[in-house]
Amino acid sequence: MKTVLIITSFFLVTFTPLRQPLRIDLVPIGEVSVEDLKIIKQSIEGYYRAEVTIREPVKVQEDFRVNTPNQSTRVTGGKTWIVQDSAVLQAEKLTSYLNTIREESFDKTIGVTGQGIRIGQERWTIRGVVPPDPERNCAVVSTYLVKRQSSSAQQYVFRLGKVAMHELGHTLGLEHCSGGKSKSTGEAPPVLLPDFSAEKGPEAKGDPECFMLRSTPDGEAFYQTSNRLCRQCQSGVQDYLK
Ligand SMILES: [Zn+2]
Ligand SMILES: [Zn+2]
Repeated sequence: MKTVLIITSFFLVTFTPLRQPLRIDLVPIGEVSVEDLKIIKQSIEGYYRAEVTIREPVKVQEDFRVNTPNQSTRVTGGKTWIVQDSAVLQAEKLTSYLNTIREESFDKTIGVTGQGIRIGQERWTIRGVVPPDPERNCAVVSTYLVKRQSSSAQQYVFRLGKVAMHELGHTLGLEHCSGGKSKSTGEAPPVLLPDFSAEKGPEAKGDPECFMLRSTPDGEAFYQTSNRLCRQCQSGVQDYLK
């Protein structure tokens, strides 16, 4: 009897199966191109142990829309410009909607929109968001800003993929990177629109190579990271990595 017990526990310890791949439901919100959805799917599946399913699109509802102007930056001719974004959606509305249509057969639900998004009353249009609820089951990725801040198709693919990997990292419990070299990159760009002159973007601190780096409004520090996590961030999601 004693021998049997020992053998059993030996097997349990040695052959604990790996966690199942993450099941991810990718939900287009309004019109999103198949190419954009594929970029997100392939980037996530290339780094995480995950299976991404692309769902039929859902409609953009009227109350998702923001009715006050938002802003974001563009760099042309070496100068940073602040421009107004007109068609922006309220991120919290999207994530709470995603929670209502979320299917239990998926671990995480990621909404994708081609429109800009913002959070709270923030005037800076952002690239992605995960609500701060404890479950962190839903995220939203917006292609809007990345598309407008990229100067080639190749750059766009790399950056959009990284935004998706970053938001998925948040859903798995990662916070913004504080590992590595703690390089402080970037003040917010100079604000040219008088309406928003009091606002400043957050600073990026952490490993400048890690895609969990906090993004600034111009995205520069984030765009320059690699498509990998630093060691410290990796240790938080080891079970889900390839
Ligand atoms: Zn990191
Ligand atoms: Zn983030």
